[in-house]
Amino acid sequence: MSRFPHVPREAVLKEDLLRGGLAFDDAALTDNEHGDVKPKSYFIFSFDHRTLPELGTAALRRPPEEIVLTGGPYELRRTVVSVRTNPSSPYRVGTDTDGRLRLFLDGRPIADVGLPPMPAYYRHTLANGKSVMEVAPTIQWGYLIYLTAFRVCQYFGAKEECQYCDINHNWRQHKQAGRPYTGVKPVDEVLEALEIINRHDVDRASQAYTLTGGSITSQVNGLAEADFYGQYAQAIEERFPGRWIGKVVAQALPRADVQRFHDYGIRIYHPNYEVWDKRLFELYCPGKERYVGREEWHRRILDSAEVFGPRNVIPNFVAGVEMAAPHGFTSVDEAIDSTTEGLDYFMSRGITPRFTTWCPEPTTPLGRTNPQGAPLEYHVRLLEAYRATMDAHGLSSPPGYGPAGPGRAVFSVSSFMDTLPSTDS
Ligand code: SF4
Repeated sequence: MSRFPHVPREAVLKEDLLRGGLAFDDAALTDNEHGDVKPKSYFIFSFDHRTLPELGTAALRRPPEEIVLTGGPYELRRTVVSVRTNPSSPYRVGTDTDGRLRLFLDGRPIADVGLPPMPAYYRHTLANGKSVMEVAPTIQWGYLIYLTAFRVCQYFGAKEECQYCDINHNWRQHKQAGRPYTGVKPVDEVLEALEIINRHDVDRASQAYTLTGGSITSQVNGLAEADFYGQYAQAIEERFPGRWIGKVVAQALPRADVQRFHDYGIRIYHPNYEVWDKRLFELYCPGKERYVGREEWHRRILDSAEVFGPRNVIPNFVAGVEMAAPHGFTSVDEAIDSTTEGLDYFMSRGITPRFTTWCPEPTTPLGRTNPQGAPLEYHVRLLEAYRATMDAHGLSSPPGYGPAGPGRAVFSVSSFMDTLPSTDS
């Protein structure tokens, strides 16, 4: 914080919590779907530093989906942080002697902790007994409905899966634990869950939905990727026209498929490029490299801007994998230079990438060799580089992420929104 005084303190702490996770005292865990605190939904990846069987009580009583930090010695403004469980983290959520929930660092209290209240819509089930949390969980303090329509990825096994991704393992571990975990979500179930959300979200906290899941290289239920994910948007927009901003995270598809996404009613497209460096992309994303190829992937991102408009094409990258051993950059300077080159490439064309902070999940190849993740310095300098590149190209915070600015942002899996100038939506 003292080395980077112009980066909000909140963002520094948030990045450290996201890259390394946090531990929970039993008193800070939830009562799953039967308590007053919104539990972690495991909406796509595990985002944990241990497998479920290694989490102890936190596997039986889930941690909260997110926490909100305020106050403490750093006088933190309200900061929403996605929960990544790590029993070995120096950060721990527990109660102090007054019974108040606090965040401790090496035993020293550093922030007050607020927990997300159980939303009214999570207290209802679908007619078939499935929970809303399973079919249509919300994250980002209720702003985003996260619809992982397809819970596995057809890039399968060591030669195809992205080397930092545990989507397939997460599916397996939930199945093994006997948790409900729907592989392909029926459209009717999604609509029913949204109906419940729409009815009970009286404050209209939910503003957007994301359709996503694993890549589809052949078909699911007879449909290729654009039509598979598009069918949900079509049904949602027919039933609830314009109620939410429709977003899709999918592969960089050929232009005709991208047009279909748009025709189905999707307004924001996330064709994630994952990591900028050519060598690292080839090593880390062997499936994407083989089926599509990095140059074609980038070309398709640019093409999609003609369909959606450049502001509405927001490709993600996984911040930190650039520095993963044994193939990644060994110096923060090199990693930041490379990532900034990618930001420049897209931002100079009006496309605003965004990033999630890498969580080195233990069942992934990169997580296994890098359990500590990337250095905090990388993550903090990336926040600087991101904002500087955005300013250089005259861009502002991307649409569909809620308010920007310290004390206001709700985007919970990286702090890029916490570091940008304040906006209301
Ligand atoms: S394409 Fe890669 S990152 Fe996306 S779900 Fe498949 S393996 Fe994971």
